[in-house]
Amino acid sequence: MTKQYTYRFRLEPNKEQTAYLNKQFGYNRFVYNFFLERAINLYKIHNIKFNYYESKKIIPLLKKGFPFLKLANSQSLQTSLKNLDAAFRNFLSSRAKFPNFKKKLSSNSVSIPQYFSINGNFLHIPKLEKGIKVKFHRKVYETVKSISITQLTSGKYYVNMLVEKEFTPLLKINKVSGIDVGLKDFAVITAGTDADNYNSLKISNPKYLVKSQKQLIKLSRQLSKKRHKRTKTDKTSPSSNYIKFKNKLSKLHEHIFNQRKDFLHKVSLRTVNDSQVIVLEDLNIKGMVKNRSLSPSISDASWGMFNDMLKYKADWNGRQVYKVDRFYPSSKTCSNCGSVLQDLKLSAREWTCPDCGITHDRDVNASINLFLEGLKVGGESAELTPAEYAPAGIHNTGYSRHTLKQEAS
Ligand SMILES: [Zn+2]
Repeated sequence: MTKQYTYRFRLEPNKEQTAYLNKQFGYNRFVYNFFLERAINLYKIHNIKFNYYESKKIIPLLKKGFPFLKLANSQSLQTSLKNLDAAFRNFLSSRAKFPNFKKKLSSNSVSIPQYFSINGNFLHIPKLEKGIKVKFHRKVYETVKSISITQLTSGKYYVNMLVEKEFTPLLKINKVSGIDVGLKDFAVITAGTDADNYNSLKISNPKYLVKSQKQLIKLSRQLSKKRHKRTKTDKTSPSSNYIKFKNKLSKLHEHIFNQRKDFLHKVSLRTVNDSQVIVLEDLNIKGMVKNRSLSPSISDASWGMFNDMLKYKADWNGRQVYKVDRFYPSSKTCSNCGSVLQDLKLSAREWTCPDCGITHDRDVNASINLFLEGLKVGGESAELTPAEYAPAGIHNTGYSRHTLKQEAS
C-alpha cells in the first residue's frame, strides 16, 4: 500500500537565495490576494461562486496586466490558486474560517512541483545557480515528487518534500480505544478488549509544554507594554524593543509548536499501535470549551492536529477511527448502568450516578463511554461515523497569524 507522505527539513538559504525566495513569496501572495478579492466581488455583485478552473484560465491575462509576474515560477502561481481553492473548500466544509488576505508578515510559501533536484545536502531549484543548503535530519530513500518552500513567521525557512511511501498494515488486534479531551489533562484514553476488560489512562500535558506556555504568557504581557500601534488608525511606530520582543515571541511560538507536535506524534503513534478501533468525540463542540489548562487557541489547534495524526496513521496502518455523533452525551452517561443525567455542569469534575450510586471522574467516565461505543463497531451503533482525514497537501504549518494575534492580545 503506497501513501503520500511529507518530509520537512530546515533550509539555510544565502543572501541571494533569500532575496529570490522572498520575491517568489510576494508573487504568490499577489495572486492569492488578487483571486480572493475577485472571488469576494464576484460573489457580492453577481452571486457567482469561486471556480478554480475558470480562475486558472485568467493567470496568463494577469501576467499581461502585471508584467512582474513573468518572473514568477508559473506552476507555483497555480499552486497558490489551488491553495485558495482549498481554503474555500475548508471554509465550506466548516473546517476553517473564511480565507484571509495574505500579508507579508504571515507565513509564506512557494511550491515547486517540477525541475528541482537534490544533490547531497543541496536543493537545486530553477533560476538559482547554487543549491540551497538543506539540514537533513534523516535520510530520504523515496523519490521526491514535489517540493514547497515555506517561511514561518519567525523567519525560518523550511522545505516540504512530498514522497510516496510504502506501508505495510499492522497485524489486526482485538482492541478498542476511546479518547476524551481532558478538562485538566491532555486526554483520557480507555483501551481494552471487552466491556469487562479495559484500563483508563490519563495523559497529562507534558511539563515542558506547561513551562513554555507560562513563558509565552509572560512574554506576551511584556510585548504589549512596548511602544506600538494600539488601533488600526494609530500612527505610532513600533519601538525597536517591540520588534525585538515580537521576534522573540514568534520564535517561542514555533518552539512550542514543535514541542507540541512531537508530543502529539508520540501519543498518536502509541494509540494507533495499541488499538484496532479508535473512537473520538466530536471536536467542534467540545474541543473549543474544554481544555483550559493551556491557552484555548493552542489547545484547539493541537486537538485538531492530534485528530488528524490519529486518522492518517490509522489509515496507513489499517486501523479504523470513528467519531461519535455530536449529540451523544459521553460525559453525562453513566458508564456503569447507562442512565443519562439531565444536566452536568462543565465545572463538575466528579459526579455520582443517582441510579447505581457509582462516583465517576468526569473525563474517565466519558472515555469509557467512547470505548464502549467502539466495541459496537461492526455491530449496531447509531452514534458512530467513520472519521475522514484530509490527505497530504492541504495542511499548512498548523499555526497561523490568527493564533499569534490571539496570544499577543
Ligand atoms: Zn449508574
